[in-house]
Amino acid sequence: MKTITLLGATGSIGASTLDLVARNPDRFRVHAVASGRDWAKLAEIARACSAQVAVIADEDRLPELAEALAGTGTQVRAGSTAMVETAAEPVDLVVAAIVGAAGLAPTLAAIEAGTTVALANKEALICAGDLMTAAAARSGARILPIDSEHNAIFQVLEDVGRISRIVLTASGGPFRGLSREDMARVTPAEAVRHPNWSMGAKISVDSATLMNKGLELIEAHHLFGVGPDRLGVLVHPQSLVHGLVEYVDGSVLAQLGPADMRVPIAHALAWPERIETPVNRLCLATAGKLEFEEPDRARFPALALAEAALAAGGCRPCVLSAANEVAVGAFLEGRIGFLDIAAVVSDTLSALAVAPVTTLEEVAAADAVAREVARSFVAHRAAR
Ligand code: NDP
Ligand code: MG
Repeated sequence: MKTITLLGATGSIGASTLDLVARNPDRFRVHAVASGRDWAKLAEIARACSAQVAVIADEDRLPELAEALAGTGTQVRAGSTAMVETAAEPVDLVVAAIVGAAGLAPTLAAIEAGTTVALANKEALICAGDLMTAAAARSGARILPIDSEHNAIFQVLEDVGRISRIVLTASGGPFRGLSREDMARVTPAEAVRHPNWSMGAKISVDSATLMNKGLELIEAHHLFGVGPDRLGVLVHPQSLVHGLVEYVDGSVLAQLGPADMRVPIAHALAWPERIETPVNRLCLATAGKLEFEEPDRARFPALALAEAALAAGGCRPCVLSAANEVAVGAFLEGRIGFLDIAAVVSDTLSALAVAPVTTLEEVAAADAVAREVARSFVAHRAAR
């Protein structure tokens, strides 16, 4: 029996995780569930999985959460300190599925406590990858990737010393064939309508700009200890091949599977074992053609911005990710256009100097400055 703490329980990854947990009551027991603001959904989840603890980041929602869970035996908590303390409580596995840099402190707390972390929250690793991997080395915590491409690589990676290249595939998103002119007019509703995957709003927009793939290169660098020169991206619209590892002898090992996040989540939950899932089986005969093409960095500049941030290191990935969070939020609110997202990120990177980040405080400071600068660029573009 594995005990689990689920951070980001009310989200898309949270729902897929809870589905698998409910199908395997003899294997998994939920210790704690956590979310940002949605107290009603959190209460419903805590009841359904008989969680011992429910924690909500927004302290103002505590009374409603407490009332909704009165008499159930579930302990309720609120606020960022409670979130971090809950993440550090001893369990077999913490599923880190909060969206954005908000997930960094609790995820790091779980790693520092020596707990195995199944990581979906890529932004945490992007803004503080060196800190997280150093903390994992000290505490002995393992980081198991949930992100489908990284989970694919994890499944086929034998020894980093014997590889020549890691390749992450990208669907290309909903605007793969669009001109820049057409992209200038797309709406938030069109941007979140991903052709293959069903995901939260932020990552769906990131997939549409290809920023997601750029963030994933940085994620892969930290997870697998591989430099930018051995990391590549290939657009693969069918989303059936999730990642490839090329070895020095020319062999290429790839992982394939249906585009259903329950496959990589099941792998991380059960690792080193495997569990059954209800997902549709991959049928290559009906899938027909598998296509691959180079990404177009001119039409999707976010990818190149992320590659440059990875190469520069220091605070750059954190600044990139923080500015992107601000810009995507503004796009989803209808304040800026789709093409403004990468432009705001680029302007923010240009406005700030490269600096090293070696402590959590320095990461938090770089994140805060980047958000402030990005917000001013958003305001400027929104006023146009
Ligand atoms: P969603 O938007 O669906 O869910 C986000 C979750 O984070 C919600 O539970 C939300 O709570 C919670 N949250 C937001 N802010 C806070 C906070 N300050 N403190 C605590 N919890 C908070 O996102 P996804 O599930 O799609 O994505 C989660 C992460 O997984 C992201 O980093 C994403 O990049 C990554 N990922 C997702 C994939 C997918 O298929 N969805 C695939 C690969 C990676 P509330 O509902 O209360 O706001
Ligand atoms: Mg991914």
